[in-house]
Amino acid sequence: MSDTPRIAVYPGSFDPITRGHLDVIERAIKLFDNVIVTVAAHRDKKPLFNMEERMDMIRESTKQLEGVKVTLDDGLIVEFAEEEGAVALIRGLRFVSDIEFEFQLAWMNRHLNAEVITVFLMTDVKYTHLNSSLIREATRLGGNIDDFVTPYVSDKLKAKLKG
Ligand code: ADP
Repeated sequence: MSDTPRIAVYPGSFDPITRGHLDVIERAIKLFDNVIVTVAAHRDKKPLFNMEERMDMIRESTKQLEGVKVTLDDGLIVEFAEEEGAVALIRGLRFVSDIEFEFQLAWMNRHLNAEVITVFLMTDVKYTHLNSSLIREATRLGGNIDDFVTPYVSDKLKAKLKG
């Protein structure tokens, strides 16, 4: 075995980061020396939080996890991964319904760069129904979402959505 660190990139919108994402990151860091959580620009989505705000919330939520780095990328994620020396892309799976889209994405990424291997990680069952847009909507309507995001993210959401 070489001493080269095993690096994985975990791309996503993270608008904002939830405990489902954190669950995936905690699993990934057991498998890799470094996990680079990457806020990826998504042209079709109008985000609630800008890239800097999303990175700040990820940093705060992962600060106790050694080996996790946070960054952003607005290009092809496999190119970014190669530049970083990463061997894997991490994606989280919730349901069978995630699989169709995730397989398409993994297939395209493999076509673009077969050296970067997509690794799917299953979240804890209690986060199976969780996604960032549900969290945004529940907060907007005054619901308590504290089981699903860190206190820091909860405060940021309330400040943003309740004025
Ligand atoms: P995207 O906009 O690419 O779906 P997200 O930030 O929503 O980005 O998600 C990034 C990755 O994390 C995706 O692979 C998604 O399936 C996964 N993910 C999101 N929420 C959860 C969750 N609750 N449990 C497990 N994986 C999740």
